[in-house]
Amino acid sequence: SDKPDSMSAEIWEKIKDHPCYSEEAHHYFARMHVAVAPACNIQCNYCNRKYDCANESRPGVVSEKLTPEQARRKVIAVANEVPQLSVLGIAGPGDACYDWKKTRETFSRIADEIPDIKLCLSTNGLALPDHVDEIATMNIDHVTITINMIDPQVGLEIYPWIFYKNRRWTGPDASKILHERQMLGLEMLTTRGILTKINSVMIPGVNDTHLAEVNRVVKEKGAFLHNIMPLISDPAHGTHYGLTGQRGPTHAELQALQAKLEDGTKLMRHCRQCRADAVGLLGEDRGQEFTLTQVPEVV
Ligand code: SF4
Ligand code: SF4
Repeated sequence: SDKPDSMSAEIWEKIKDHPCYSEEAHHYFARMHVAVAPACNIQCNYCNRKYDCANESRPGVVSEKLTPEQARRKVIAVANEVPQLSVLGIAGPGDACYDWKKTRETFSRIADEIPDIKLCLSTNGLALPDHVDEIATMNIDHVTITINMIDPQVGLEIYPWIFYKNRRWTGPDASKILHERQMLGLEMLTTRGILTKINSVMIPGVNDTHLAEVNRVVKEKGAFLHNIMPLISDPAHGTHYGLTGQRGPTHAELQALQAKLEDGTKLMRHCRQCRADAVGLLGEDRGQEFTLTQVPEVV
């Protein structure tokens, strides 16, 4: 099996049929994302808002935004056509926890009809602590938090502002609050036994050398996986993606960092940073076959 030596048998049992974590499962089980959460409560320097959030999904693309009811129809239409469908994720295009009402409504409508589907969501973590109790009562299998720093000084170069408690915060306060909320959310999830994966976006010259420290801390706090994603250059503009023009890492830089960190990154080597509306087996995206206009009005 692909089980990393340091992973407990209990956790492996929970994830081995998940297409994103198991090399074998990714040939047999399909996943699907529905883009129901367009709003976001922070600004990342590498996000220009026109495209999907980089928390989990592929930045630089625009996904079809759906209401919770449209998402329900689409998931049922897909489930009828793709029998391997086993995982439904909400990964943007904004933040699944900030847009919580839509995320919750989507999950509950779909769980009512397909009770055995695994649900997962990804978030920047700022609003996460407010929803952990509810997450624990739903059939949510995994949560992914994007954590790019544990030092607000590093955060200064990544997050120009956050929106929290009805106002905008900038400078060191913004990064400090975000950091504290991310750590609290992570602890709350792992205390309740909810599998939590951490994604980090590797930004050369900003957080690349810092990510080893992030890795140590998130593992200590119970994350079962730490996945390093490269900052992706923006194909639409032919330049590197980012408001402040950071470049993405080279393949060699990414591999060197992944080799240094704990084994979790190996398990994610086939993560494709799928679009926020991806459908199908990994490596395949049948999203275009299931756009809303192709989904029956009532299913
Ligand atoms: Fe963009 Fe996602 Fe960052 Fe929000 S969390 S600013 S949607 S990349
Ligand atoms: Fe799986 Fe990665 Fe795609 Fe998410 S983005 S569905 S973790 S392969």
